Amino acid sequence: MNCMRCKRKAVFELRYSGHWLCRKHFIELFERRVKKNIRQGKLIEKDDVVLVGLSGRKDSMVVLKILNDIMRVNPNCRLVAVSVDEGIRGKSLRGAIKYCESIGVEHRLVTFKEYFGLDIDDVVEKVESDCVPACSVCGVLKRRLLNDYADKIGATKVATGYNLDDEIQSAFMSILGGDLQSIGRLWSGTGVLRRRSFIPQIKVLRECPEEEVQLYAKLMKLPHTKSRCPYARTSYRTTVRDLLNSLEKNHPGSKYQMLRSSDEFAKIMGTQLGRKHPGECSLCGEPSSGKKCTTCQLIEGIKVLP
Ligand code: SF4
Ligand code: ZN
Ligand code: ZN
Repeated sequence: MNCMRCKRKAVFELRYSGHWLCRKHFIELFERRVKKNIRQGKLIEKDDVVLVGLSGRKDSMVVLKILNDIMRVNPNCRLVAVSVDEGIRGKSLRGAIKYCESIGVEHRLVTFKEYFGLDIDDVVEKVESDCVPACSVCGVLKRRLLNDYADKIGATKVATGYNLDDEIQSAFMSILGGDLQSIGRLWSGTGVLRRRSFIPQIKVLRECPEEEVQLYAKLMKLPHTKSRCPYARTSYRTTVRDLLNSLEKNHPGSKYQMLRSSDEFAKIMGTQLGRKHPGECSLCGEPSSGKKCTTCQLIEGIKVLP
């Protein structure tokens, strides 16, 4: 097939619009869409200090590249890439660190060991034997570490690599689980509530399907790790992902329709959530709906395990 814009050889079909595009026009469309999302949502403003959580996987590398393209022309903005070393065997952040050096972006490495005094490898046996999946521990601790770091460097935004597929999977899982408040947290007006501040979370790829993020990373030759974490398992999310992919295959455009619907719903739920002021964790002082926050409960739980 040929590109619908220039008649050169096409590399990709946008099935939801029926358009075939060549390398050049696919890259143009992808970047235009991300930049439009940033502009319309006012995701980046002058004097912003943006923290990007850099895992080394395709999504975060794409976010870093595009934010750097936009922010480097503004000397008042600061972009900081932060990678978390969870202490997982075989994981390498070398490619991510080298990429930051090559494009001149400030990079920080933070480790679970230094911050929480534990490695995921070290605790995984204890945790698994206690029937708690490693990801539940790792996800909560990683979120806390990145949020604390954002606070520490005075970040005004935290950029995540969530793409369209991640967003609708989360929304769908919340609906299936009857957890409507979680949908509210997907609303783009949400962020990280800290003791004294509120740091908005920005999702610059939320209009981009996962396979397009993957293709963009490949075409731009962005170094990214493809190896799977040894603790990643076939999860409920994988089942939901397969379900939504099959829906999109048979009914192209379904993913975008679902994003629009969940946005409408999230806006209503998010506004309600915004009015509620949670209490404080008795141990760390962070906002928490219970006496102790999830992070403190987890750490306490792990430390008492034999
Ligand atoms: Fe952590 Fe799970 Fe991701 Fe591995 S797959 S890095 S354990 S959250
Ligand atoms: Zn073309
Ligand atoms: Zn706490």
